[in-house]
Amino acid sequence: MRIEILNTGTELLLGSTLNTHGHWMGQQLLHLGLRVQRQVTVPDGDAIEEALAEAVLRADAVIVTGGLGPTSDDLTREATAKVLGIEMIEDEHAVRELRSFFSARGYGRMPEANLKQALVPVGADVLPNPNGTAPGIYVPPRLGKASACAIFLLPGPPRELQPMFTAEVVPRLRALSGIEEAGEAIELKFVGIGESSFHEGIDEQLQRIAGLEYGYCARLGEVDLRLIGGPEAIAAGRVLVEKEFRRFLVSDDGAPLEKVVVEKMAAQGLTLATAESCTGGLIASRVTDVPGSSQIFTHGFVVYANQAKEDMLGVSADSLERFGAVSEEVCREMLAGALERSGADVAVAVTGIAGPGGGSEEKPVGLVYIGIERRGKDPLVLRKNYPGARDDFKWRVSQTALDQVRCLVG
Ligand code: AMP
Ligand code: MG
Repeated sequence: MRIEILNTGTELLLGSTLNTHGHWMGQQLLHLGLRVQRQVTVPDGDAIEEALAEAVLRADAVIVTGGLGPTSDDLTREATAKVLGIEMIEDEHAVRELRSFFSARGYGRMPEANLKQALVPVGADVLPNPNGTAPGIYVPPRLGKASACAIFLLPGPPRELQPMFTAEVVPRLRALSGIEEAGEAIELKFVGIGESSFHEGIDEQLQRIAGLEYGYCARLGEVDLRLIGGPEAIAAGRVLVEKEFRRFLVSDDGAPLEKVVVEKMAAQGLTLATAESCTGGLIASRVTDVPGSSQIFTHGFVVYANQAKEDMLGVSADSLERFGAVSEEVCREMLAGALERSGADVAVAVTGIAGPGGGSEEKPVGLVYIGIERRGKDPLVLRKNYPGARDDFKWRVSQTALDQVRCLVG
């Protein structure tokens, strides 16, 4: 099925608004085993009609975003009616919905300009918008001059578009494409292993699985592997990948590492404290991004200065002096202090040199000690080297630290 996205909005091309729709919808469609073939962005105005007229000749479905507002630069409805060669009528139900949107929020009388939002090409469906005034529109295939192409008109604001996409667009796309079950595409997330390991390890074998399409997306400190195809091809691909790389596999539904950590710890009733120097609280921040993290997260010690390491975690001045703040010994003392002072079951500690300054021959920029300890067990301290930009360094350290927690809790 050939799906195209047409983003409208001058602000997208001026660079004042980041176009997030393609990114978001692409991910949603992938889970349905569908892919976007083309995404085009045009300014408000005649370009919409032009781009839509071209797209309906190529595509099976075009998803148009933006331009459904009440103002004079919102022209998507009109452009669509012209491309279809169909008149527009006022949809009574849409008018009632619009009026009740205004009264329910105490906005008073609805301005006349908003009535334009209830105009619909004859024969098209109105897609309700519980989060805003602009209803969406669905033009089924073979309506007007659009031949076999289906057209969806969706509002611009992501918080309106996204729920409408899920509720109204997905079921229609499923019906159009004949997909009944989701799960024709999966995304396996790996941490602690590079893209090249896949090439060396299993790439050739994956290629030999009939009907399987796959692709890698290497991000900082992780690799996502996409498997697309029929259920059997996906299962075969998965078996192969798990055989080689099971211990690096974090999730199979795109869930980020921190979410997996929180869920695993919550399931086992374990609690976590962090002791962070060079990451400045990034690990704690990532953990607390996850809803429900209060179940597992107790303390986040950000101990940047030596004094803070002493005061907050009881790291000894002697160790700091003898071994330096970036050392295995200090990392161990940070772990011990974090466990003792938080009462948590598991502590993770990081101390390193983010750069660009502060490195030496013996301790270069990028050096970091990442420690993990479970109460009652021996601590484990890894020595890693992540040279590079400061924010990349911080991210990779947080990634390895969280992955150690994941491995420890099993
Ligand atoms: P519109 O429906 O064209 O009036 O768009 C309303 C608002 O939605 C715009 O001002 C943007 O803030 C937002 N918006 C529109 N298109 C996009 C897009 N492609 N990505 C992110 N935000 C968007
Ligand atoms: Mg607009």
